[in-house]
Amino acid sequence: MKITAIENFLVDKGGPAPWLFCAIRTDSGITGYSEYGQGSLYKGLPGLIEDLGRSLIGQDPRPVDKIFMDMYRNRRAETGGATAMAMAGIELALWDIKGKDLGVPVYRMVGGPFREKQRVYWSHLATYRVRRAEQLGKPPLRTMEDIADCAREAVDAGYTAFKTNIIFPGENPSMINNMFAGANDQNAPTQLVRHAVEQIGAMRQAVGPDIDILLDINYNFKTEGAIAIGRALEEFDLFWLEIDNQDPDALLQLKMAQRTPICTGEQLLGLRQYQPYFRKHAMDTVKVDVQWQGFSQAKKVAELAEVYELNIAPHNYNSHLSSFQSLNLTASVSNVRIMESDVDSAPWRDEITTAVPEIKDGYMTIPTGPGWGCDLDEVAAKKYAFEG
Ligand SMILES: [Mg+2]
Repeated sequence: MKITAIENFLVDKGGPAPWLFCAIRTDSGITGYSEYGQGSLYKGLPGLIEDLGRSLIGQDPRPVDKIFMDMYRNRRAETGGATAMAMAGIELALWDIKGKDLGVPVYRMVGGPFREKQRVYWSHLATYRVRRAEQLGKPPLRTMEDIADCAREAVDAGYTAFKTNIIFPGENPSMINNMFAGANDQNAPTQLVRHAVEQIGAMRQAVGPDIDILLDINYNFKTEGAIAIGRALEEFDLFWLEIDNQDPDALLQLKMAQRTPICTGEQLLGLRQYQPYFRKHAMDTVKVDVQWQGFSQAKKVAELAEVYELNIAPHNYNSHLSSFQSLNLTASVSNVRIMESDVDSAPWRDEITTAVPEIKDGYMTIPTGPGWGCDLDEVAAKKYAFEG
């Protein structure tokens, strides 16, 4: 079998950045698909895939780890960041080809399945409705009670866990974001801490003590601010406080300074980047993104985490193909805390893939189809092509 072509698809997801997909075609008629990377890099990443892919034409796609290692070694001057994400896009599509060639799911090629279903949380609960309530056909977020209603909606839909962000309801609702972080030097003013307490308090009151609430504060606070938020929210028994912070010692300080468990790591790519955090035991749960670093790297990170008595949580906020890729990871490893799942999404999301995950009582069923168990629908992908 030989690779004959590599193609990118950029698909509108209803926001300023697209979903990114890669298709690798072969002379056997099998096409492998991947969802990869970070949509906001939609000009750079597809270009990197083209650059990296050129030398793969004519190669056998099946020695997946060898091809990845060859790309890694050949790109030794620029192995991280966007290059790593593009390498992941190629590697993921190769795994899909290999699975389809053998007629088995990816997890069956690596010793799985470890499970038949995966617990998921409703992610970005209320968050996407800040700017896109109308597009999603949902009521606007005028008051804290409207945010509490979102929490009730997740429970009514069968979810036992949800994740949100700090949101300011009102006539023009807004959320905490990078603009905020820049304007505030990543500080957490008392008023803001009180606001977070009010929001999480309203959500906790709405769902009671048995539903797990997760809060992601991203890059919005320095360690001191994150400690203030974590301490103030202790009374609500968060499942985790999620933060992106680039210093393992700072994260350890945050973990030790307050009682809320810490989840972090989504921005890390590959074993070498995770290892310093593991050595410090700087987190309680390890965020791992399959789309950003590839399947083998994510699996190795999970296995190294296991050595350090840590469980992983896949970072997964894209289209359904990304959920299928992430489910193949959780079915391949023994140490999973929970998995992310976006529910609010572009109304046409179900159209652009050939399968949608089955969700029952807050669990996604591990797929059984060959490869990822889900393809990009190329006709729909063209219909909803991202125009920029
Ligand atoms: Mg996050």
